Amino acid sequence: MPWLDRMPLAEFAPHVPGAAVVQERWGPQLDRARILRISREFHRRAGTLTEAVADEHRRYRAGAAVIRTAHQPNYLASSNIVGQAVMADRLRRLCGSADRLPAVHMFTLIDYDINTDRRYRHALLPSPTSRDGSIALSLPAMRHVHDVFMFTETETTAVDLVGRLDLRLDHDHAALRKAHPNLALSRDLLHQRLDRIAGHLAFAAGQARSRSEYTAIVLSRLMNLDLGYSTMFVPGHRAIRLMGAHFAAIWSEWPDIVKVADTVDASPEWSGHAFHGGTAAGQLLAPFWLRCLCGRRLRLVWRDRPAGAARAECAECRLEHTVDPTRVAELGTANRLIPRVLADDLLDFTAWGHWAGCDYSGGLEHYQFSSLLAQRLGLAPLPIHLSDDLLYQPETDLMPSGFVAAAAALEREYPHAARAGRLASSGRASIAHALLWADKEPMKPGGPTSEHPGRERGDRLAVVAAQ
Ligand SMILES: [Zn+2]
Repeated sequence: MPWLDRMPLAEFAPHVPGAAVVQERWGPQLDRARILRISREFHRRAGTLTEAVADEHRRYRAGAAVIRTAHQPNYLASSNIVGQAVMADRLRRLCGSADRLPAVHMFTLIDYDINTDRRYRHALLPSPTSRDGSIALSLPAMRHVHDVFMFTETETTAVDLVGRLDLRLDHDHAALRKAHPNLALSRDLLHQRLDRIAGHLAFAAGQARSRSEYTAIVLSRLMNLDLGYSTMFVPGHRAIRLMGAHFAAIWSEWPDIVKVADTVDASPEWSGHAFHGGTAAGQLLAPFWLRCLCGRRLRLVWRDRPAGAARAECAECRLEHTVDPTRVAELGTANRLIPRVLADDLLDFTAWGHWAGCDYSGGLEHYQFSSLLAQRLGLAPLPIHLSDDLLYQPETDLMPSGFVAAAAALEREYPHAARAGRLASSGRASIAHALLWADKEPMKPGGPTSEHPGRERGDRLAVVAAQ
């Protein structure tokens, strides 16, 4: 495909257009002042309205370009998620708007997903002396009996990280020191860092009104405070409430969207792909989930024809719902309608007005399909910079190299030690591990590491951009 390529960040940057194209057919320009209020409120609650974040907010208000990342607010998120944000932060330094404002990095928290993904509640900490080579840190199970949207999980939990990890860290540290006498990290520093992360969890538990807010606040504190990034966080469920008109447009244009999606599915350039976004589902289902009054996620089935009324029945509370096209905007504003995957992708093009995005390569097919669809709908595709899973390492200096080297030397004594080292270097482990075992204090963005010109070579990068 001509618009898919692998390239370093500096070569990707010119693909970022000079302006965001928003077409009124798909809804009005999103009001930046309102998004700003949502973000500011979040950062205040998270205790992360730093000078750097406030500066990001000012530029956002003044119309700066936006580079976005979007992810679920996972509990003690993996280094790869933080890595995406790091790439976005680097990209924003390479892009600016016509009036020379540096671009803003926005992290949209996809808290309107349902809570079934394991990574939302479980984090992995590599531990060479543990039975599986890792410790699973989990949020306790909630009381509800069915899947719920993250933002509606109102129970929050304080987790005793220190009680859980204290002895284990001592044990790991002693074993790693023995195997690798040069391991620079002292036991005291390790415990100081544990206390700092535990402090973030305690702070978040005192502030959060929902579980997704709890995990999001922790992520923001790790990124905005410990790592020093200026990333502007936006809780997604609050933002999509502003998109009622965009929801209504997608609803009414749905027959056309499905028709065009069919042409993508049938096109030679799409043959052989696993992802299909066309007819089968589209003619049956509306592009949004309905959130039942009991909290359940319901499929909306077209009653007579696509874009007409749709209905749903809840197996839990037996309620029957009908959504009339005239009520779509109002239900969207009430967070009763939640975009399904294709509609959510389309919002990137129709509502947000982002200039570019960063993601990891797992989402590639999905973005390719959405970009082709958007192009054929006359929308400008969003250039997405897709990173390899391992990209966070050279970019952030977060790789706990001492830990990885020492773990490899421990295998004779502890059979799963090598697995712990691999987990630590894969980026799938929690960022908490990287911060605990960092060889030195993490580099702040803009420091010598991110300016290092040789760092990008050999990285696997891809771009999805319009030709
Ligand atoms: Zn129900």
